[in-house]
Amino acid sequence: QIITLPLSLGTEPFGALIICSHEAAALGQDRLRVLGSAANHLALAMRNSLEFRKTKARADHDGLTRISNRQHFDMRLREEMKRHQRHQDELSLMMIDLDYFKSINDTYGHQAGDMVLREVGKVLQKTLRESDFPARYGGEEFVVILPQTREDQAWILAERLRALIGKTLFRFQKKRFRVTASIGIAGLKPGALTPPECLVHNADQALYLAKTNGRNMVCCSAIEENHAAN
Ligand code: GH3
Ligand code: MG
Ligand code: MG
Repeated sequence: QIITLPLSLGTEPFGALIICSHEAAALGQDRLRVLGSAANHLALAMRNSLEFRKTKARADHDGLTRISNRQHFDMRLREEMKRHQRHQDELSLMMIDLDYFKSINDTYGHQAGDMVLREVGKVLQKTLRESDFPARYGGEEFVVILPQTREDQAWILAERLRALIGKTLFRFQKKRFRVTASIGIAGLKPGALTPPECLVHNADQALYLAKTNGRNMVCCSAIEENHAAN
């Protein structure tokens, strides 16, 4: 015997509860009523859970670039750092800042600037691994958490991102232009007990170094040499 009960709230059904039984005996009206009421409760719980998931996704993501926002990044960094301490592995953090971004807004308009931010968000999403975590830190700054990644490996990835951003030809209305990025990297060795804000500070310091040394370059907080763009 198979009974199918619609899961619906209002008029639109969004699923079905299917009950299969090996016993051929038909269920009486009373039992059917109980099942109907259970299906209604289930529908309500499922709808609430779907709504919660949607609301959480909205709260965690940046409206412009659709990647994670600062608040989500702060939470995830704490989680990843706890994992790093538990598993005694490496972790790196990348901080990306677009160069002379104000002049993009001033020259091509704010909408052109917005389009660049969206495109850079897409470059990050396309280039990074599933386990990496990109976020918009604020304004024209992005961050990437790289779990189980040494600083030298992070540097190779940062160079790739820097090159990809630099060679992207942005088109807005009839204008074409390019943008470069400066990137700072900080890493944690296995067993390091650095707090999250220190790691962010170190990546920020490395970014500052990249800016003051000429921009369009990647700098690491631990590695002495700076790697200038070709
Ligand atoms: P630097 O190379 O030193 O980083 O110079 P910069 O011009 O990139 O840095 P600055 O901090 O002077 O300017 C950042 C600009 O980013 C100013 C601000 O208007 C712009 N900006 C911040 N958020 C947004 C946004 O959401 N959309 C647009 N279009 N612009 C934004
Ligand atoms: Mg900035
Ligand atoms: Mg900038």
